Amino acid sequence: MPDIRTVTTHCPYCALQCGTILTRERTGVVVRPSDFPVNQGGLCQKGWTAPTLLDTPDRLKHPLVRGNDGELRACSWDAALNVVAIGLRAAQREHGADAAAVFGGGGLTNEKAYLLGKFARVALGTRQIDYNGRFCMSSAAAAGSAAFGLDRGLPFPVTDLGRADVVMLAGANVAETMPPLMQHLTRPSLIVLDPRVSATAQRAALHLQPAPGTDLALVLGLLHIAVVDGFCDTGYVRSRTSGFDEAWKRAMTWWPERVERETGVPVADLRAAVRMLAEGERAYILTGRGVEQHSKGTDTVSGFINLALALGLPGIDGSGYGCLTGQGNGQGGREHGQKADQLPGYRSITDPAARQHIADQWGVDVASLPGPGRSAAELFASLGQEDGPRALLVFGSNPVVSAPDSQHVVERLRALDLLVVADFVPSETAQLADVVLPVTQWAEEEGTVTNLEGRVLRRRRLRVPPSHARSDLEVLHGLATRLGQPGHRFPTGAREVFEELRSASRGGIADYSGISYTRLDSGEALHWPCPRISRGHHPGTPRLFLDWFAHTDGRARFVPVEHRPPHDAATHHLPLWATTGRVLTQYQSGAQTRRVPDLHAANPEPFVEVHPDTAERAGVRDGQLARVTSARGSTIARVRVEPSMRTDTVFLPFHFPADGSANLITPAALDPRSRMPEFKVAAVRLDALSAL
Ligand code: SF4
Repeated sequence: MPDIRTVTTHCPYCALQCGTILTRERTGVVVRPSDFPVNQGGLCQKGWTAPTLLDTPDRLKHPLVRGNDGELRACSWDAALNVVAIGLRAAQREHGADAAAVFGGGGLTNEKAYLLGKFARVALGTRQIDYNGRFCMSSAAAAGSAAFGLDRGLPFPVTDLGRADVVMLAGANVAETMPPLMQHLTRPSLIVLDPRVSATAQRAALHLQPAPGTDLALVLGLLHIAVVDGFCDTGYVRSRTSGFDEAWKRAMTWWPERVERETGVPVADLRAAVRMLAEGERAYILTGRGVEQHSKGTDTVSGFINLALALGLPGIDGSGYGCLTGQGNGQGGREHGQKADQLPGYRSITDPAARQHIADQWGVDVASLPGPGRSAAELFASLGQEDGPRALLVFGSNPVVSAPDSQHVVERLRALDLLVVADFVPSETAQLADVVLPVTQWAEEEGTVTNLEGRVLRRRRLRVPPSHARSDLEVLHGLATRLGQPGHRFPTGAREVFEELRSASRGGIADYSGISYTRLDSGEALHWPCPRISRGHHPGTPRLFLDWFAHTDGRARFVPVEHRPPHDAATHHLPLWATTGRVLTQYQSGAQTRRVPDLHAANPEPFVEVHPDTAERAGVRDGQLARVTSARGSTIARVRVEPSMRTDTVFLPFHFPADGSANLITPAALDPRSRMPEFKVAAVRLDALSAL
């Protein structure tokens, strides 16, 4: 296939999936924003610099296999795939089917996510597949499914936010993580809930600054005020919901004064927040990772949904609840079967009818389809253990930096017989691998992604990939055939895989069966569900829940929730709370953005934000290196003294590797429902490095 001069496509990074136009010039690839309604001509620094990634000097040039001397050496694709296939089979022969495991990513296209799930369940016959979205959106997904009967990040188009009077951003720093979204938030008054005075909080009409780990107490208090102060929409609650009484019972004792004691947020601000939401004619509550990445993340999101339901917001045109999905294909990545507990179409892997449907689609015996496997953190904890996998394939993820308690993850990866990483740069995880497979990247391949509003988008190929690189689809085909699968079962063309995916999704929660490349290429805006219909084309569903919620009775559910403390307890030895997050110029584990010179220059090293009083108590100064220690381990970061920080809290971005990795200190304490780890709160101590 020849190079193409110009394509309309989407940014390779976050879930906003800003529209871009890429052009090949003599000087290299040039990007400019398209008129896609989500970004409306805007891009953030990451989007503007994305073409730099295509020619990063760090690009992996050949498959690599680790020799007996411990060195990674270049070899042919045939040789590398043979090593992988032989290693997988050896592990399974000796330890059973689940000895081979697969770990995917929320940045993989829909086609890759689908084929990865099929590869794990059909070619390997293993239960052990999960993906890094478990660390990202899983709590909101679990809470959304429980409340509404289905989970789609935003059940309305992003552009609806621009008509709102009030938007509450609970744990979402969109001014740094998704800057073009701020265009849609100029009209509404913003209520921001964040322990830090983030870039977004600085633009808020009202900033609630709770202690880390107390969001659930805070939202129980907001529900309490909504009911007691007469803001509850009783007509809506009666006609469109169920379960209010039980939820109210749990909120009843959260008097505002008690909430202030627990969270540090003044009663007047709590009351003001509820009043603003209730009195705005059009209001939205949006959650992000700040309230979701906790060992009680699902309950916390349920608390915010309960508040939204009490105020009568979800399923009303111009109001609602939504989750701001983070990763580029965080939405599509959770719909097509790379989650431990799900099959394509966002179906449950334990549902007999779903299993039969997918087995028929894949042409396999339903009895051969494995059941649910371990969630990401549990999967990592089990690697190389007696009952755990001995071989792991990683696609589109860098868990050495992004997983909690990351030193433990490194130890488990080292205990494997075979670690295989498919990536286009030598990520920290690839550097530990036995086999590294150099794959194509975003502007070198075709495919689709689904953005945070459930809109299916085409990613398009601008240029031919370097001769050494293969697409993930080709890698899966090459491995599957070596494992004895017929080649046609694992197509290498994105369009072919999408045809299979849409058919498999038919009748599921995320129904793509009415969506085709032809429709997308003609410019149609298609949000799922978009079923195939007998006459004409289904228009897609940009707004969900306007007439019904997806439970059988059509009602949304209040979910009763109780506040509980975080996993760590602050002690004399570990007196501070550490919370982790993102900065404007880095994305996720930083494996890509740390390789873009302009982005790296803006934030070249790990830092820790500290209140001046906290810094003084710890004996650290601005600009000095400090050690932050938790019960798991310690990390080193440069001190930034920041007067707006809470005195009990320090903040670290998580994009950096090695000694400065924030995830060296985070606990792998899991939410009981979503299995989300507690990234957002860890008990720590701060020490001057020179004092150690
Ligand atoms: Fe890319 Fe997200 Fe930035 Fe848009 S906001 S340019 S999708 S990183």
